[in-house]
Amino acid sequence: MENYSIETVCQLNDRSIADQWGALSFPIYQSATFAHRGLGESTGFDYTRMQNPTRQQLEYVVAQLEHGTDAMAFASGMAAVATVMELFKPDDHFIVDSDLYGGSIRLFNEISKKNGLTFTTGDLSSGDYRSLFQNNTRAVYLETPTNPMMNVTDIAELAVEAHKRDALLIVDNTFLSPYFQNPLDLGADIVIHSGTKFLGGHHDTIGGFVVVKDKELDERLRFIYKTTGAGLSPFDSWLILRGIRTLSVRLDRAQENAFKIAEYLKSSKYVTRVIYPGLPEHPGYKISSKQARGYGAMLSFEVESKELVEHILKNLKLIYFAESLGGTETLVTYPITQTHADVPKELLAKNGITDKLLRLSVGIENADDLIADLEQTFASF
Ligand code: PLP
Repeated sequence: MENYSIETVCQLNDRSIADQWGALSFPIYQSATFAHRGLGESTGFDYTRMQNPTRQQLEYVVAQLEHGTDAMAFASGMAAVATVMELFKPDDHFIVDSDLYGGSIRLFNEISKKNGLTFTTGDLSSGDYRSLFQNNTRAVYLETPTNPMMNVTDIAELAVEAHKRDALLIVDNTFLSPYFQNPLDLGADIVIHSGTKFLGGHHDTIGGFVVVKDKELDERLRFIYKTTGAGLSPFDSWLILRGIRTLSVRLDRAQENAFKIAEYLKSSKYVTRVIYPGLPEHPGYKISSKQARGYGAMLSFEVESKELVEHILKNLKLIYFAESLGGTETLVTYPITQTHADVPKELLAKNGITDKLLRLSVGIENADDLIADLEQTFASF
């Protein structure tokens, strides 16, 4: 393939599987099955659980974006995480970051443990993880920046430590998207995305991805993928393909807005803490600047009281109070009762997820309008 820049990769059509009429918008192949021309004469597609042309096109684009050799598209981000966990067997040990999307923590605690996997949790962003490895450690799992505390871990450094001990490094790259960060280039073995978020980009579909660069790992994952059957539907594949076309412009604008909002929140007397990796005072700023091309559009902030949280959530007019992130509209989430509701209380407290913490997924509206919306809720308290 040509050595295109990321903005161009977002527009890529794999001509070898594009339809015969030359459609620029890749067709939705809404077919469960594909006719054979004769015995042993498959068109390359047999049954949509295994593969579908529209999904294959999406997987091709995502693999290119993440600099992987293959990507698999799933019905949700959690289906992607669950499939990766099927690589492991009873007594395999995992190191997981303490701050993670609550659904991933729930999956590890309620399902993976039942399947015999063991876990050690630690703050990987501290760099103090060498003592967490055991003889049976098979993988390290993290997000960077994390959801919702925006902790940043040095991926390259951790990859070296994991590989020294033959453990895989699995990075959930949802928050920065491949537009800003490519963990495989930094040494990660598996990249996961909730495609629901920045890749889809419009809060209109649920999807997930696993991206790899190793042939053997790819074959094992493809086997689990086709056997367990959580592949993304043709229509949802098309929606995410369409979303990816504007990934670069959406993220440039959303990040610009996030910087402005972070500065505004810092100046507000109602806000006690602003957590955004793009602020030089953020502890992960230096590492972010080294390993990513941007700081993203996610930020968290703390206000002075729970009463103020309730007031904000009731009175915002433009910003939606909704779960999820990464779309064109700005959303505010209350992690303690939403995304992280099932996380054990001690872990919430340890991570600093309090009842005064709010998370913003900044969209592409006019930043002044978003700031005015926040301002009017503070002013009316
Ligand atoms: N990873 C992260 C960082 C997330 O924020 C989420 C969902 O919010 C997921 C994974 C799960 O993705 P999905 O909701 O698409 O299943």
